[in-house]
Amino acid sequence: MCGIIGYIGNRDASPILIESLKKLEYRGYDSSGIGLLDHQSNLIVRKAKGKIKNLEETFKGKPLPFCNVGISHTRWATHGLPSDENSHPHTDNAQEIAVVHNGIIENYAPLKEKLKKQGCHFISQTDTEVIAHLIATLYKGDLRLAVQKAINQLQGAFAIGVISKQHPDVFIAARVGSPLIIGLG
Ligand code: GLU
Repeated sequence: MCGIIGYIGNRDASPILIESLKKLEYRGYDSSGIGLLDHQSNLIVRKAKGKIKNLEETFKGKPLPFCNVGISHTRWATHGLPSDENSHPHTDNAQEIAVVHNGIIENYAPLKEKLKKQGCHFISQTDTEVIAHLIATLYKGDLRLAVQKAINQLQGAFAIGVISKQHPDVFIAARVGSPLIIGLG
């Protein structure tokens, strides 16, 4: 169980994402992270083991730029120890797609083996990282379709948030068996 947040809109994403994380910290407190797309379509990922204040420490001297889209996560580890590298968001090897995930991917082990054979290099011990690589291998220009195809291969109960450098005006959220709320304002 954990807390995942996504934001897309006219406001600066990072204060909203961090404030929301603090409201969800009780759902997962072993690490936290944030992923943002800036106006040059750079993917910015910061993450830290421990409480959200540890994540905020990473902003000191390296402030986050104004971004209109982003995702964040406060983790309760199920696969892989609490660590910086196991914290979310997780990315594909090209660092183009970032994913936050609540829940468990039950078939992550065979998927990981398959993806490794396709050349994917894993840097974490999480089940979540397979989602990022899977979406990347299925991506042919349509992010939503790639996410849908990836979800069709995933077993378990989960909710995810996805952003991509190729689609700086898109935030994708999806759920299978886990709660997820969308707010429009
Ligand atoms: N299974 C994922 C992990 O271990 C997500 C856990 C969670 O819901 O916080 O990183």
